[in-house]
Amino acid sequence: MRTYNFSAGPAALPQEVLERAARELVEYGDAGMSVMEMSHRSKSYEDIHNAATQLLRDLMNIPQNYKVLFLQGGASQQFAMIPMNLSKKGKADFVITGEWATRAYKEASRILNANIAASSEAQKFANIPEITKISADADYFHICTNNTICGTRFTEIPDTGNVPLVADMSSGILSEVFDVQKFGLIYAGAQKNIGPAGVTVVIIREDLLENENKLPAFMQYKTHADAGSMYNTPPTYSIYMAKLCFEWLKSKGGVAGIQKVNEAKAKILYDFLDESSLFKGIAAKSHRSLMNIPFTTGDETKDKQFVKEAASAGLENLGGHRLVGGLRASIYNAMPTEGVQALVDFMKKFQN
Ligand SMILES: *Cc1c(COP(=O)(O)O)cnc(C)c1O
Repeated sequence: MRTYNFSAGPAALPQEVLERAARELVEYGDAGMSVMEMSHRSKSYEDIHNAATQLLRDLMNIPQNYKVLFLQGGASQQFAMIPMNLSKKGKADFVITGEWATRAYKEASRILNANIAASSEAQKFANIPEITKISADADYFHICTNNTICGTRFTEIPDTGNVPLVADMSSGILSEVFDVQKFGLIYAGAQKNIGPAGVTVVIIREDLLENENKLPAFMQYKTHADAGSMYNTPPTYSIYMAKLCFEWLKSKGGVAGIQKVNEAKAKILYDFLDESSLFKGIAAKSHRSLMNIPFTTGDETKDKQFVKEAASAGLENLGGHRLVGGLRASIYNAMPTEGVQALVDFMKKFQN
């Protein structure tokens, strides 16, 4: 029996996508082989690759002057690649909103002068700090739009003027409508809201591809952009799975369609948390994530008991991140409304 999987990542995939992948696993169309066995230079694979790129372009309304790259190494590799490629004057601004934003900052610090423009660390990352200053001489301004561990999100995207805005969207991409033009570079590991692990999406404005840093070819965005993400063997099966997820999302009304579902879905859980006598939400109401909802009973033993009993009831992976403990429900696009309803029903039962 399939359970409701509230994992933060790798996360649940749409059942329809898994069923289709199963049907196509051994033999893809009339190709006579599995997608996993295809040459990445074959016509069959190229069609998949190009369709995946176009679907993402359509879903996010990505302007022509942006390249879509399918890379590897996760968001973590981007923490390094971004400063390597974008550093010109040698300075960048960071908004510290949690563990991942901190990691991006620390990795960049090895390469350039990383400046903390704002931080909510003193608030234990329960909110998004106000941004009052943007360094005009920075090569880029970095934010993490959705904070997977503490469950906050930028409800407004800062205007950074001429300084390129760079965003880690690993856990928020495709969950709500973003105006890509506000960003210089967007990146996301696939395993939260795109598809299975193994591929990393980078959306980069073309003027940011050029750099005079003497980087190894493989570390340059331009290398991958010029080669259509086929400089070396791409993670073909993960890209194929992402394509199926993009088609699924398109059939659900695209990003605007799923955003409405996501808002209603998150509201079910937040409404319950707001009135519960046992469970409390963690994130400030003004910046609540639609995707990752941390909460707690306030008692470690009870939290652990909840995780265990919920798992027995078919509700999996409700433990909080190992750094913060407590509880967390990740409810990405693939989590059906019924799953969130089942969780709230179980929480009520547990509470009583
Ligand atoms: C999961 C996550 C990461 C780390 O991604 P990897 O693909 O494991 O490197 C980075 N940033 C955010 C916001 C995440 O949710």
